[in-house]
Amino acid sequence: MKIQLITIGNELLNGKIQDRNAYWLARFCHEHDLDLIKNDIIPDNEYAFMKAFKGAWQDADLVVTSGGLGPTKDDLTKGMLARFFDKNLVESKQALEVTKKNYAKSKREYNPELQYSKIPEGFTAVYNKAGYAPGLFYQENRKMAAALPGVPVEFKTMFMEEILKKLKESFPKSSHIKKHVIVKTWRAPEAKIFNSLCPGLWEDLERFGEVSSLPNPLGVDIGVSITASDQPELEMREQSVRDAVLNSALKDFIWHIGKESLEEVIVKKALEKNMTLGFAESCTGGLCASRITDIPGSSRVFAGSVVAYSNRVKEKILNVNASTLEKYGAVSSETAWEMAQGARSVLEADLVVTTTGVAGPGGGSAEKPVGTVGVGYSSQRDCAGNLHHFPEMDREDLKRIFSQIALITLLEQVELY
Ligand code: ATP
Ligand code: MG
Repeated sequence: MKIQLITIGNELLNGKIQDRNAYWLARFCHEHDLDLIKNDIIPDNEYAFMKAFKGAWQDADLVVTSGGLGPTKDDLTKGMLARFFDKNLVESKQALEVTKKNYAKSKREYNPELQYSKIPEGFTAVYNKAGYAPGLFYQENRKMAAALPGVPVEFKTMFMEEILKKLKESFPKSSHIKKHVIVKTWRAPEAKIFNSLCPGLWEDLERFGEVSSLPNPLGVDIGVSITASDQPELEMREQSVRDAVLNSALKDFIWHIGKESLEEVIVKKALEKNMTLGFAESCTGGLCASRITDIPGSSRVFAGSVVAYSNRVKEKILNVNASTLEKYGAVSSETAWEMAQGARSVLEADLVVTTTGVAGPGGGSAEKPVGTVGVGYSSQRDCAGNLHHFPEMDREDLKRIFSQIALITLLEQVELY
C-alpha cells in the first residue's frame, strides 16, 4: 500500500506556517504499516499541482492532497483535480447531502454560493466531522485519490475516520503484522553505545528486524521494526528485543521501552505511586509544566509550577537565601537546590524539580556559559542540585533541552520515590 502526499499552500513555502499534516501522516503511516513513499510541498498553482499529481498518480496506490478545498479564490484543488482527470464539475446530490451534514452539526446555515455541492464527475464527497468543506475521493481500478482540507484537525480526522475505511475495503489485510519497538536511552552518546558499551548490539538486534538509531542531545532512541504472522509471535519477538537490551550493558541507560513520551511515562509512574509533582522554573519559564499538562490525566498528579524568573521571586516566594544568590549566583546547583526546597513547601507536592540556567544569547560568562543549567530536586527522600552544560544553540532549543533534563531528573526521582 503505497501512499504519496501532496501538501498544497503558498503559506508553507514562504514560512508563514509550519506543516503539520505531513508530519502527522508520516507518523500515522509508520505506526499502521502503511508506506508513505513521498511528500511534495507545492504552491497554490496549477503547473506545480499537475506536475506533482502526475508523478504521484503513477507511483502510488493512494494519492492524498492537503489544502485548497475551501471556498476562497486561492482554493484551487477541486478544479485542478477535475482537469487532471478530464472531468466536468457537476452538481452532486451526494455532495449536497454531505455538505448539509457538515453544517448540521453547527449552528451555521449552509450557503449554496460556496458551491460545495459541485464536485468532479465520478468523485464522491467525504464527510468532514471537524469542518465544512467536504473532502473528495476518487477511485480508478485499484488506484485512489483523496483530497483533504489543509486545516490539521480536519485533515487528520478525515483521514482516520473516512479514508482509512476506504483503504481497508480495497486492500486486503496483509498476512503479517508489524510493530516498532523503541528503546529510549539517555546519558550515553550514540558512538559510545555502539562502539565501546555494546559493540555487538546492533547486529544482535538486527536478528529481530530493521534497526534504527535516532540520537537527541540527551540520549538515543533505538528502534527495531519487528514483523510476525500473528499476535503471539509478535509478542515473543518483542520480548526477545527487550531481553537483548536488558541483558546488555545498555540496561542502566534505558529509561523506557515503548512509544510513550517522557511526559506520559512520568504521569503514569506518579499515578502508580500516588504521588504529587511540581516545578519551580526560572529559565524554562513554565515549559516543564506545559509539557506535563499536555498529558490527559496529569491533574491527578501535578500540583503546579512556580515561574520564579527574577531573583526577587526566588527569594520572596521560594525562600532562596539572598546570600546563596549572592555567593553562588542564580545559575548554580545551590540555588537550584534551595528553589526545590522552597517550592516543595509552597506547592505542598511530594516531589519538585527546578531549573535555573542561561538560555542566551546573552548572559553567559566564562564560568557559566550559555547552555549551563542548574537542576534541583526535593522530596522527603532526598534533595540535591546539579549543574549541567550543553553546547550553545538557539534559545528556544536550549529551553527545550533544559526542560528535558528536568523531566529526566523528575522521572529518575519518581522511580526512586
Ligand atoms: P479552508 O476551508 O479552511 O480554506 P482548505 O482545505 O482550503 O481549508 P487551506 O486554505 O489550504 O485549506 O488552509 C487553511 C488553513 O489551514 C491555513 O491557513 C493553515 O492555517 C492551515 N493549514 C493548511 N495546510 C496546513 C499544513 N500542511 N499544516 C498545518 N496547517 C495547515
Ligand atoms: Mg482555504
